[in-house]
Amino acid sequence: MTSTTPQSPKENRSGSKGGLASVANGRWVEIMSVLAPELEEAIDSHQSRSPHVGCPNHGGADGFRLFAGTGTGFNDTGGGICNTCGSMRDGFRMLSWVYAQRELGKVESNFNMGDHPDIMRKAYADVAFYLDHGYARNPDLRNRAPRIIAAKSAEEIAAQEEAERSRRAALMSIGQKMWGGARAMDPLINAYFATRGTADMELSEMMRLNPQTPYYADSGTTYHPAIVMPVSRVDDGKLKVVALHRIYIDEHADGRVTKAAVKSPKKIMPWGDLEGAAIRLFKASGKVLAVGEGVETMLSVHTMTGLPTWSCVTAWGLETMQIPDDVETILIAADYDMSGKGQESALKLAARIEKAGKTAIIMSPQDFYNQAVHTKGVDWDDAYREDPARAKLMWEPYMEIAPPEIEPTNSNT
Ligand SMILES: [Zn+2]
Repeated sequence: MTSTTPQSPKENRSGSKGGLASVANGRWVEIMSVLAPELEEAIDSHQSRSPHVGCPNHGGADGFRLFAGTGTGFNDTGGGICNTCGSMRDGFRMLSWVYAQRELGKVESNFNMGDHPDIMRKAYADVAFYLDHGYARNPDLRNRAPRIIAAKSAEEIAAQEEAERSRRAALMSIGQKMWGGARAMDPLINAYFATRGTADMELSEMMRLNPQTPYYADSGTTYHPAIVMPVSRVDDGKLKVVALHRIYIDEHADGRVTKAAVKSPKKIMPWGDLEGAAIRLFKASGKVLAVGEGVETMLSVHTMTGLPTWSCVTAWGLETMQIPDDVETILIAADYDMSGKGQESALKLAARIEKAGKTAIIMSPQDFYNQAVHTKGVDWDDAYREDPARAKLMWEPYMEIAPPEIEPTNSNT
């Protein structure tokens, strides 16, 4: 298994980072109550029946919560999530996010602490300082006393676990309704891809159109057509749907179909463990599978190569992807990001694939990067839309990567 310990490039080199996380985990309530008073309300409520509070970054009434539960809860991981701003899955990300708000004011959603190495280093350094020296040694922190959490009773733990189970069951039921009320092969899906410039996109049966999908925002719920897709992972030997991914779309008077004019037109609603989960767009039936982050990217790669493809949705999803036993070669359709995130995730996955005794090939769209057009980076969907012939040429060597069956021959011939 891979470690989910966060790693900064700097700490990674020195090899000391795992040590810091292992000391900090189990003490995040105490650490954050001193270093991040912005989280005070959330810390106070995170073990209660209503853990949702206003977000320290974007405001709102109840979009933010710190993780509850035993082992995976805030005190153990330092993680939490805002429905609008995104997930901070561990304490270092959470603290960097809070620090970024102090320095920059409100930060954009899906904050990537890798984009702010100075802030990230300060967060690591402060946690290290706190753990080594205690708050009283730092004059800035002297007036803040750490909160110590009382051990929970068995009844409290059971009640909390029951609340978590029913929360997940409610989400699963909403997800099943969204999927059940959706239509396969809806022309709006084709129109969405045609508007993007890929009218020839080969679509997956895992994509359906729900004409009235609720979009939940702090300001209220609105309804839009959405392309809905199940996100699944193998658990105890069985493939289980653990989330529903949606791309909210708007149909315009001129027939164009674009991403909806909402703050986050792509959303994932999880009711199970997302680690290693993917949208299995096409069944991995042969020895070769292509994987990458976005849905559009992996449909483009399928259209170019005919290979089965999976969308792992996020860089973290790609990094932790479940490697199927029967597949021998995995082509990684990496994103080329200015932040370096896409490349980093592809390398991490490649290392895991090779460790599993299989072949990993990273396909980078770097040659298609054009500073004037691509602000954050480039992916294979951009490459395919902008220069389909050239993009296809780069994949051509891998379109039939399965080596021809070699007839057994006698050694004396
Ligand atoms: Zn927020």
